[in-house]
Amino acid sequence: MSAPHLVLAVDGAEVRPGPHERVRELSPDEAGAVLDDELPRLTTGWRLRIVGTPRAGLLVRAAALARGALDEEITVEAVGDDGRTVFCAHCHHVFPTAGRSVGCPACELALVVDDHVSPRHGAHLGVPV
Ligand SMILES: [Zn+2]
Repeated sequence: MSAPHLVLAVDGAEVRPGPHERVRELSPDEAGAVLDDELPRLTTGWRLRIVGTPRAGLLVRAAALARGALDEEITVEAVGDDGRTVFCAHCHHVFPTAGRSVGCPACELALVVDDHVSPRHGAHLGVPV
């Protein structure tokens, strides 16, 4: 038997829950409050399944990690494509982008968006060119 899941459906992502799954819908802005409510009630063996666009999914995962959830307890299912969140390696500004090479809106450096995701920021690293 698989472990029960709490499914977080982000921004109206469609989820067909399995027999051991409970679904909560939320927006990335609500992730902190929802996780503060849910995480203390989860027992050992629970898993978090986050379903949402790549950007939103990573933001919700970062919120869960910040509240003590373990990376191996979390799966993120990406649906659709809403670009990426970039963390500027130079000035630490965080902003959304659809491209692979961007200008940081804060420090105006040209950045290349790395494939690596910082779990803590829920964002891709933007490396100055
Ligand atoms: Zn910057």
